[in-house]
Amino acid sequence: MKVTFYGTRGSIPTPGETTVKYGGNTACVLIEADNKKLIFDAGTGIKKLGEELALNNEPITIILSHNHWDHIQGFPFFIPAYQKNRPINIYSAPTQPVEHNAILEQMDMSTFPVPSKDLTADINVIPLMNEFKNMMINGLCVSAIKINHPNGGLAYKVSHKNKVVAYVTDNEIHSKDNLNTDFDSWVAFLTDVDCLVHDAQYTDLEMPLKLGWGHSSIDQAIKLAKAAKIKVLILYSHAPERTDKELDKFISDMQLDDLQIIASQEGKTHEV
Ligand SMILES: [Zn+2]
Repeated sequence: MKVTFYGTRGSIPTPGETTVKYGGNTACVLIEADNKKLIFDAGTGIKKLGEELALNNEPITIILSHNHWDHIQGFPFFIPAYQKNRPINIYSAPTQPVEHNAILEQMDMSTFPVPSKDLTADINVIPLMNEFKNMMINGLCVSAIKINHPNGGLAYKVSHKNKVVAYVTDNEIHSKDNLNTDFDSWVAFLTDVDCLVHDAQYTDLEMPLKLGWGHSSIDQAIKLAKAAKIKVLILYSHAPERTDKELDKFISDMQLDDLQIIASQEGKTHEV
């Protein structure tokens, strides 16, 4: 399996000289196996991916964790959405309130010049109603579990042959306000996972001011990865203020014998 990062940043795009290395685009990850592709989230990183996908006419599958702006805001700039009859299936997570068409409706007000009804692709929004196990989506086996995040949403794992990759973003592992999945349930969900992409927006020092915001600290993500006996942890959803230098330092300070820790980097592909 291959995991490629097109957007690694949480909350808001952060271009600038301090984010050149790890990237400033918001959430978008491509998971591939045997030429089958699943796109997770449609933050601003999906624009670049769209340029690549526009070179052919294969069906496209997008799976959304939730509808916050940093997970849908790139879609109006996703070139395949403007390709005539291009099949695009969008799996939309349950949120509170339930708004499965939010990714399209963001184009339907005064905020974007092209209304979603003018998109010429064959776009099909498929509502996901709850957690699920082993659903075949575009030829890959996907399971989902609820995230601990304001307005809710889902995390996913993708299995192919004997490898498993999990995409867990916007998740406050020890949430008091939005606890849908407790620590033990996370460990159980992740126990067969080889490579975990997990929200690690904050440091432990920053965390007390961010309680209830729906994100985890780097150390909390590491503790979960160790409890689930993960081999590779990829830190994701970097805080907008987080600089390349800080991420480099965190990573060099943190290497453990039994767990490889990587900071997600825009444009980088990881083989699992
Ligand atoms: Zn969010």
